[in-house]
Amino acid sequence: MIVKRFSTGPIDTNSYLLICPSSKSAAVIDVGQNSAKELSSYAEKHQLKLEKILLTHSHWDHIADLAHVKKHFDIQVYIHQGDETNVINPGSDGLPLFIPIQGVKVDHHLKDGEMIDVGDLHIKVIHTPGHTPGGVCLYLEKQKTLFSGDTLFQGAIGRMDLPTACPPLEMIKSLKKLEALPQETIVYPGHGEKTTIKQELSNIHAMEKLLHKRTI
Ligand SMILES: [Zn+2]
Ligand SMILES: [Zn+2]
Repeated sequence: MIVKRFSTGPIDTNSYLLICPSSKSAAVIDVGQNSAKELSSYAEKHQLKLEKILLTHSHWDHIADLAHVKKHFDIQVYIHQGDETNVINPGSDGLPLFIPIQGVKVDHHLKDGEMIDVGDLHIKVIHTPGHTPGGVCLYLEKQKTLFSGDTLFQGAIGRMDLPTACPPLEMIKSLKKLEALPQETIVYPGHGEKTTIKQELSNIHAMEKLLHKRTI
């Protein structure tokens, strides 16, 4: 497995290429502003077969270049149904758009527990509502690798003060799913550097306590 990160746009959003080296199949995970050119030239240089676009959630900074990449490679867009609307009609989630973003049709709804294949790589969908209703993390059990979107970062969890955020209990349930993963799991977040579940455990527990206080 190869993970290639592209950090782009005004708030340094991470887009990733998840590559199966034996088949050269690849998936795009999130499509930040100004990432299309870098993603395309890397994919073309390494003769990758881009198969699909997997979106961790629909905030504008993760879908800004989506229409361009979908059209350029003629590939399908996967997202959880809970976050579909903002992909079709960007800005409908109530967040201001600083740039015009073209909406696209969603081809596939990701479901909790579903397995998605990219070449020889098997990705499990973990529904993690909290930051948004249809947020997902993407987990490769064999490779002990997690793409956490904006649910978990190095030293932080996703904001819950944005218009479509869920009640704290939803986020607590989502964090519990992540803390149950093997501690050595490498976490590739939607912003910032990679981390591990082990490194974030005390932070996750502290955030759970804080969120619990907001439910009582
Ligand atoms: Zn977000
Ligand atoms: Zn983000």
